[in-house]
Amino acid sequence: MNKLGISDLDLKGRRVFMRVDFNVPLADGQITDDTRIQAALPSIRYVIEKNGKLILASHLGRPKGKPDPKYSLKPVATRLGNLLRKAVQFAPDCVGPEVEKMVSDLPPGGVLMLENLRFHAEEEKNDPEFAKQLAKLCDVYVNDAFGAAHRAHASTAGIAAYVKQAAAGFLMEKELESLSYVLTRAEKPFVAIVGGAKIADKIDLIESFINIANNILVGGAMAYTFLRARGIATGKSLVESEKIALAKDLLAKASTKNVSIELPVDHVVAPGLESAASQVISITETPPDQMGLDIGPETIRRYSGIIRQAKTIVWNGPMGVFENPKFASGTFAIARAVADSNAYSIVGGGDSAAAVAQSGVGSKITHISTGGGASLEFLSGQKLPGVEVLTDK
Ligand code: AMP
Repeated sequence: MNKLGISDLDLKGRRVFMRVDFNVPLADGQITDDTRIQAALPSIRYVIEKNGKLILASHLGRPKGKPDPKYSLKPVATRLGNLLRKAVQFAPDCVGPEVEKMVSDLPPGGVLMLENLRFHAEEEKNDPEFAKQLAKLCDVYVNDAFGAAHRAHASTAGIAAYVKQAAAGFLMEKELESLSYVLTRAEKPFVAIVGGAKIADKIDLIESFINIANNILVGGAMAYTFLRARGIATGKSLVESEKIALAKDLLAKASTKNVSIELPVDHVVAPGLESAASQVISITETPPDQMGLDIGPETIRRYSGIIRQAKTIVWNGPMGVFENPKFASGTFAIARAVADSNAYSIVGGGDSAAAVAQSGVGSKITHISTGGGASLEFLSGQKLPGVEVLTDK
């Protein structure tokens, strides 16, 4: 990477502002999954070891630019303290004189977690004055929030203009290395698996895969828009009618490049999401009153066969409505197939990452990206603002 990394910095006794992605899921004030906190621990421990004064900043949820106790980072600071077995101080805000005083009292090796950045509307507006106030807290800046790197906010982008050095944390470096590998040096056969609800969100991703992959396996609701582009009736399944023409273009583009776009050959259908009466049918026999909610066993068999031959795999988006156990088999089977392959495998996106975790095969995936949107944009060939602003080596 041509950007400064955390290990290029002299941290001893210096105030280190580290942007992390601690946007964890909460239920009744309890953290239900601390993967994102765990993912930042290597950078956090490194700063502590080097006797830096660590200031941690993150957003949590969507508090709409003003303080909202529901989105306080206090429980996150407590969990971090437990994980580190070390006191983590908590600041009641992320800017202002009180926070500045807490920072100046911080001993080398100490950790201070700031309150939710999004309690200030200026954060998402990338307001320069707010960015300056954040920068005032520190000597050096580290961005380890890969999950927020596609956003040009004050703490992910603006702040870099007001600090001497802006470096990537270890998590950020690992994410960028893994994702760059598939874009530039991936071994073939390269199999991309794309699912989820909407084609609209993943057009750029599919276009990018048409340039680098050998096979694109399509599942989830978006398969139905492609099926319609091939003239197949899809009953009540979710279809983006205004995107059928685009799906046709993508199919044509893929065929000129010798990339095979695979669509489901059978599926699990039901009259509706809540219905108990589901059945497996061929994709060409969908009655008008049925809705496709998962890929079927023959599709699983075919997709798994292609996955088995792969040397590189990238997966983004579930194969069906996997939140409902009745329509989860396809997604879980694909998770297992990816895990059982010998390929360099990357899973991106919250849903696919959750499916991998629920299947218990997470350790067999080469890299599970912590950033859904950010990995999507990076793999689509876009530049990430949070990376662009870092100091060149
Ligand atoms: P995305 O955020 O685009 O990756 O979409 C994820 C969502 O797509 C999940 O909540 C799934 O329940 C949903 N989904 C997947 N397959 C289908 C389907 N066949 N019909 C309706 N929704 C689906």
